[in-house]
Amino acid sequence: MIHKTRLYTPGPTPLLPAAQFAMAAADMHHRTPEFRALLLKVLAQLKVFVGTQNEVLVLASSGTGAMESAVTNLTSPGDKVLILSAGKFGERWEGIAKTYGCQGDVVRAPYGETFDLDEVRATLKPEHKALYMQATDTSTTARHDVEGVAKLLKEAGGETLLVVDGITGLGTTHFDVDGWGVDVLIGGSQKAVMIPPGMAYLSVSERAWAAMEKAKTARFYFDLRRERKNQVKGESAFTLPVALVAGLGGALDYIAAQGGGDLEKGREALIDNAEVNAAATRAGLVALGFTLFAAKSPAAAATAVSVPAGMNSGDVIKGLKARFGIVAANGQGEMMGRIFRVAHLGFFDYLDTVALLGAMEHIAKDMLGLPVRYGEAVAAGQQVYAEASSQLSALSSQLLAAKS
Ligand SMILES: *Cc1c(COP(=O)(O)O)cnc(C)c1O
Repeated sequence: MIHKTRLYTPGPTPLLPAAQFAMAAADMHHRTPEFRALLLKVLAQLKVFVGTQNEVLVLASSGTGAMESAVTNLTSPGDKVLILSAGKFGERWEGIAKTYGCQGDVVRAPYGETFDLDEVRATLKPEHKALYMQATDTSTTARHDVEGVAKLLKEAGGETLLVVDGITGLGTTHFDVDGWGVDVLIGGSQKAVMIPPGMAYLSVSERAWAAMEKAKTARFYFDLRRERKNQVKGESAFTLPVALVAGLGGALDYIAAQGGGDLEKGREALIDNAEVNAAATRAGLVALGFTLFAAKSPAAAATAVSVPAGMNSGDVIKGLKARFGIVAANGQGEMMGRIFRVAHLGFFDYLDTVALLGAMEHIAKDMLGLPVRYGEAVAAGQQVYAEASSQLSALSSQLLAAKS
């Protein structure tokens, strides 16, 4: 039978056709009025997508480049920082901080879990220059409480900057960036914005810009103050990935169209879409007998489930690819072989979720020998969808009524 290749990986995610067309048409030099106009338009859209009045910059790098810039531009060697670490991406903050000579105090949670805010409060010291965390750690698919951490920092009243890796949080989680006081929020091109890898973006608060004046860690390529000077004029210090900028513009136009031309509403619709697909996936996979890896605080970006003891998640992944063309993600590091992960962020619709659950019924029955009744995972997902879509349509008629 025909197998369409379908990416269910939490980055790169499936490409949006409208963005692909925009990229194909981006035969443009980056030091021209055309490109300047495009970049300024995309940066203005990104502010709305991120949901902030703060400056937003793009960087020619994968997400980790922007993470590194948030350490090198905000700290000096020897500075104390606080890191919340509960997965491979939390460990990435630890690695970057260590590389640049920061003294990192670390609050940990086991893989699959989230942090105890009391422990964060107890560990926070006024001398911490910044607190680094993930909105969702994609390696475990746990969601972390950015709002709770932001509140706690405000209550402490110090100068610790809040830096959030929102690379899979943006487009899957509601953030009040300016209300909560998120100083740096980082996103990546290959995640919810539905374009290929190669570009990162980040919002930077006035407090963070001020901190940069005193930060002494060495940096060259990722010098955010230099980028800011250029990007406010639609320029960049170095060559930007022109096609990705064009693709991002196409994707943000598409997201705005989902909100009837209002990008803020479109962003909320994209988040709701991920939430519903994630909830349906969780219900379907649990109905088949899998265990959620991040049951207490699941992300909408992706879902990780453990395979039954004695089984290898790599076999599930191989089976999905061989039989259905589905590309799912294995666990990273110590989680490899124990879990598999499927994504909901960006260009996934409800029927993608139904397809995945249908495929998983075959895999669970034929490869794992689980007692599957065909339709049970799909039905559990459909139930979630039916309830959510009636809630969502009630919500949007309330919004319409409030407007008129
Ligand atoms: C994808 C991802 C990153 C960035 O990884 P890159 O490979 O550098 O793009 C960082 N944090 C999280 C939570 C991610 O999901």
